[in-house]
Amino acid sequence: MIPVVHHPAYVTEAPARSTYRWGKNGAIRDLLLAEGGRVEWHQPEAMPVRWLEATHDPDYVAEVLEARVPAAKTRRIGFPVTEVVARRAAMVPGGTWAAATLALARGFAANTAGGSHHALHDTGAGYCVFNDLAVAAIRLVEERAVRRLLIVDVDVHQGDGTAALTAGRPEIATYSIHAEKNFPARKARSTLDVGLPDGVGDDEYLATLERTLSPLLDDHGPDLILYQAGVDPFAGDRLGRLALSLDGLAARERLVAGLAKRRGVPLATTVGGGYGDDVLAIARRHVDSILTLAEALG
Ligand SMILES: [Zn+2]
Repeated sequence: MIPVVHHPAYVTEAPARSTYRWGKNGAIRDLLLAEGGRVEWHQPEAMPVRWLEATHDPDYVAEVLEARVPAAKTRRIGFPVTEVVARRAAMVPGGTWAAATLALARGFAANTAGGSHHALHDTGAGYCVFNDLAVAAIRLVEERAVRRLLIVDVDVHQGDGTAALTAGRPEIATYSIHAEKNFPARKARSTLDVGLPDGVGDDEYLATLERTLSPLLDDHGPDLILYQAGVDPFAGDRLGRLALSLDGLAARERLVAGLAKRRGVPLATTVGGGYGDDVLAIARRHVDSILTLAEALG
């Protein structure tokens, strides 16, 4: 059975004036429901405020939870933080933490949302409100659930917020492989950044991923991998600049899972970027990622 963390609050109505496609999480849930008995469902609790505040500026946490985010930050986020959006923003890091805890016991688990890697200390950005990866990682380390942890971010955009929020914490290493010319224009410094030129396809991508990630895993020796499995390196993605095929995305998941499995390191995955008009097709790519990882790690 595949441990999957999901909460009804992930699936929200689109707030007005949003450029983000909100149907994705509901479609991911429906596609996983269609897998029937293969999936074991877990419902998270909202991340306690003190753990949100251990990562983010307490003033910003209050602005979000009280749905009074200033206009300049709303513009950076890309949608207004309504009460419903605020509830979702607190629930998603709870889900990523729950998936991590399940993965430590079971070897693998997935959160059906999350991967909000652009959220920074005192503001959200790029469709991200709270950085679930950083919040979960810091809680796991501070509660001594893990000694060392590696965040592997394969979204086509750099994991700038995650890198910035975990900098100065030697227990947490960050890896980001992304299109160098893509958002964000100003990159942060991950433990290891692999910036790719536009148009890189399957073979070059997979070879570069293995060559760079494998030694970092050996150097850092994590007890857990938190995986941001953005599907926006796909050739047809509206915001990607890379050219991976669907087979390439599947090979990516098998490669990462294999590197983890050979070292006996459990892996918890979140979704991440995936953009275009066909929400169902994007959800399918996320679900295929979860199923491929589960199969390879099973
Ligand atoms: Zn992205």
